[in-house]
Amino acid sequence: MNAPHVLITGGNRGIGAAIAHALAADGWRVTLAGRSIEALESTRTTLPGDGHAVVQMDVASADSITRAFADARTAQGPLHALVNNAGVVETGPTQRFALASWERMLDVNLTGVFLCCQAALADLRETQGRIVNIASTAAQKGYAFTAAYSAAKHGVVGFTRSLALELAPAGIAVNAVCPGYTDTDIVRGGMAQIMDKKGKSEAEALQSFTQANPMQRLVRPDEVAEVVRWLCRQAPAAITGQSISISGGEVM
Ligand code: NDP
Repeated sequence: MNAPHVLITGGNRGIGAAIAHALAADGWRVTLAGRSIEALESTRTTLPGDGHAVVQMDVASADSITRAFADARTAQGPLHALVNNAGVVETGPTQRFALASWERMLDVNLTGVFLCCQAALADLRETQGRIVNIASTAAQKGYAFTAAYSAAKHGVVGFTRSLALELAPAGIAVNAVCPGYTDTDIVRGGMAQIMDKKGKSEAEALQSFTQANPMQRLVRPDEVAEVVRWLCRQAPAAITGQSISISGGEVM
């Protein structure tokens, strides 16, 4: 049998790139999906093993998703797993939060997950595949000034639970992982804002993220990737509809 095929959205950097490395090392053929072919290509060339591909996809566009899944299937055959990783964060006081930002949070972080699952389902039914959604601890608890992102990520967990029940008779497992603050551009961007707007030092800005984690550190992308790797292949099929917190004990 050919190596199994997985599509990862937002696979060019951060947690998505770490997941791509872990799955490629585990023998998967990886399709990296995202907005910039150049950025995806530069990650693809670093992956271990052969047979990896890239497809252009904006998860905020239904047409783009339809095209990208068709391209991935034509190039690499049916999918055995889908990892919905692409995401963006915008924060701010709810009273002044722009409707356009609210809609972007829902479009990218929630509706994109629904549309990608829909586009993958014909394949996953054929392969009895797996879906892993990258949610967040913001799907398990609230954070001040993060209402839109948190609403979208809570939505991802509700969607995961319901889809898991819908697909259980077909033998398709659907799970979510919920990282706490993880060492990627999202947190580095947040630190830059805190340093800029509040005049904090880099160490103080970092601490405002690490203090949420009982281990007093950021989660590493490879720690998230390891759980996704397990859910994609080795987790017992009976594990479905779960939301696994990867947060040093912040959520339990
Ligand atoms: P990064 O900012 O490093 O990466 C985000 C990825 O999503 C990039 O590949 C980006 O592509 C892609 N992306 C954003 N918007 C779109 C879009 N419209 N279409 C396609 N791809 C898009 O963040 P992380 O690696 O940290 O985040 C990955 C996931 O993990 C997200 O869902 C995030 O919400 C979640 N998460 C992150 C945490 C953290 O603390 N870092 C904590 C909990 C959850 P591009 O390069 O084109 O911008």
